[in-house]
Amino acid sequence: MGFPFRYSRAAEVMRPSPIRELFKLTQRRGMISFAGGLPDPMIFPVEEFASCAEALSEHGREVPPEEMIIATGSQQVMDMVSRVLLDPGDVVVVEAPTYPGALHTFRSTGARFLPVPCDENGMCVELLPGLIARCRRDTGRLPKLIYSIINFSNPSGACLAADRRVRLAEIARELAIPVLEDDPYGELRYAGEPIPSVFSIAGGEGVIYASSFSKILAPGVRVAWAIGDPDLIRRLVIAKQGMDLCTPMVAQVVVSEYVERGFLESHLVKIRTHYAVKARSMATEMRAALGGRPVSWSDPEGGFFLWLDLGDIDSQVLFARAIEEGVAFLPGRAFYPGIDETQGDAVNGARFARLCFTFAQPEEIAEGCRRLARCLS
Ligand code: PMP
Repeated sequence: MGFPFRYSRAAEVMRPSPIRELFKLTQRRGMISFAGGLPDPMIFPVEEFASCAEALSEHGREVPPEEMIIATGSQQVMDMVSRVLLDPGDVVVVEAPTYPGALHTFRSTGARFLPVPCDENGMCVELLPGLIARCRRDTGRLPKLIYSIINFSNPSGACLAADRRVRLAEIARELAIPVLEDDPYGELRYAGEPIPSVFSIAGGEGVIYASSFSKILAPGVRVAWAIGDPDLIRRLVIAKQGMDLCTPMVAQVVVSEYVERGFLESHLVKIRTHYAVKARSMATEMRAALGGRPVSWSDPEGGFFLWLDLGDIDSQVLFARAIEEGVAFLPGRAFYPGIDETQGDAVNGARFARLCFTFAQPEEIAEGCRRLARCLS
């Protein structure tokens, strides 16, 4: 038996587009079709079509097309998953802190959050059974989904430790709660060893793995992918039909060709070196500029971010000063769900600040750190 997904009411009433179903008939051999309002494919640049399968080879097995969906950014994966799994009032387990875009999307379906505290090894998975039990007691609901940014989290830069991934896969299976494993930063490792994905640990069962070309190529490309259970993927495909019909072919073709010609592999080598230098530089410049002020962080082994712990300084107050001083960062509150949505132990994030080290140029990194340190005086 497959994983027992508890689909949303919307997913139960969603129907595949009748036109798409008709298209299947028009593809029969010998059929002359006047049905679809389509241009002539004979003049398309179709040679470039290929799949993203190479990018997936590290997840333990080949993935057949029915277990995969191409999406318009991994943001859309979250949207599709929300529509297919979540009803208003449903509870989603999230890391505290987590990506605000995910909170936004889940919240738009009326979901509430069960935040799980994190440390430098990602979500404190050992707390999960107790938090879930409390959530069940207090709300009468078993969470519908666990959302985790497994590698170099946005915002904390933490990676979920290997033993925690194993435990997460077990909890997901035992409690029949699917995991959405969001991994846009996984290829951006600058130090340490890669850790197997939850998807590969679970043999794919009950795990939706999502990644994107946004961080490794360019965000405007809007090509991402997800892999998972074929029945769930089929429902995501139906949900997507109502969103954008399809991810722009031009972008898919360009990305596909880029991967096929081997450019992505060499680009990854280049950006890993480039960003590793920037990560080191921001940490060094920040330490020098702070001159012993009580601000701390864990040096990330990859990704985009330094997550500063400002102690008793409120990052929102610091933000206003920093803007005056000509340096910007993101205050921590945005990365935490509101307290009333939850039964978890989330702090409100006021003491944290997210600094992105990849975007600024080297000379800006040094100057920006000096400006920020001045605001802390
Ligand atoms: N997940 C995380 C953790 C992110 O940081 C982002 C982008 N900031 C996304 C998903 C969305 O990425 P995409 O551009 O692929 O939609």
